[in-house]
Amino acid sequence: METKIIRITSPADYPLLQEAADCLRGGGLAAIPTETVYGLAGNALDAEASKKIYAAKGRPQDNPLIVHIADLSQWAPLVAEIPENALRLAHAYWPGPMTIILKKSDQIPDATSGGLDTVAVRMPEHPIAREIITRAGVPLAAPSANTSGRPSPTRAEHVYEDLNGKIDYIIDGGECAVGVESTVITLAGGTPRILRPGGITPEMVRAVLGVCEVDPAVYEQLQAGVKAASPGMKYRHYAPKARVTVLSGPLEAFIRYVNTHADAGVYALCFDGEGERLNVPAIEYGAQTDSGAQAHKLFDALRELDERGARRVYARMPSGEGVGLAVYNRLMRAASFEVIELES
Ligand code: AMP
Ligand code: MG
Repeated sequence: METKIIRITSPADYPLLQEAADCLRGGGLAAIPTETVYGLAGNALDAEASKKIYAAKGRPQDNPLIVHIADLSQWAPLVAEIPENALRLAHAYWPGPMTIILKKSDQIPDATSGGLDTVAVRMPEHPIAREIITRAGVPLAAPSANTSGRPSPTRAEHVYEDLNGKIDYIIDGGECAVGVESTVITLAGGTPRILRPGGITPEMVRAVLGVCEVDPAVYEQLQAGVKAASPGMKYRHYAPKARVTVLSGPLEAFIRYVNTHADAGVYALCFDGEGERLNVPAIEYGAQTDSGAQAHKLFDALRELDERGARRVYARMPSGEGVGLAVYNRLMRAASFEVIELES
């Protein structure tokens, strides 16, 4: 199929979105910008559209899709009920990078929810995402618009690399501001729990609900045989082709380690200003103290490592505090949780 690219640079261009919105309502697929990463959108109420999303991404069928809405009134028909704590979170952080899981209604086909009895819903903030949901007139299922397993796309060029020829439209709205996927929180039973960290931090959830757990799969590799609360957590993810190892320890120890392992094909993934002290090519992914900048750059940096032919990557350990928890989680999964503790 031919993939049509539509470039949107200002609200004056929004009428150009109508043909893609009509295509979405009719069962087609379009990659759309959101404030987190680019999403591969299809009509969430149409099982055939959801199946096409899985096929285009090569995504395992048991990994459920997040449903995107533009208005609170679109939420209630998708879920069995909206508990009071869910409403409070939505009022605090929607529109924004937060996904809430609740028991689903029968409007959500099994193909969209990966066979689960719950559904994940998010209201994005990006004006183009909101405009296209509104014009389509249906909620849109939209996982990240990458080939399954590759780093998520933060620019339309990344989507093109992975999905050109497999989907109807790519809406190019420039770079995504947050750069990592939404925080996924389940309110479908028990204590509110973060299944995937993102732009809305555990502290921000606690500020509204008083409590918030973080699923152990955020910090460590799931043991074989353990059931994942979030099916996406069990797959190798975000990974460039190179083998990535995270080095934990101070900068001086990192420099010493990398410079004594400076073979051909070795790259460093480090913080701003550190590359010039290394004897291998380096990609810098934000200032050490700026988790927001690291989130914004991480996936782009992982893709660049592929482009430059890296075979072995040594990465600096992010802080894990605030939005840094999302950066830590994505980088550790790109590294299949391989960490070397350096002596200080
Ligand atoms: P993506 O759409 O690529 O950003 O990935 C969506 C993430 O949300 C994956 O890790 C899914 O496993 C997770 N997810 C979506 N819906 C549910 C659900 N109903 N229950 C648990 N996790 C979910
Ligand atoms: Mg994804």
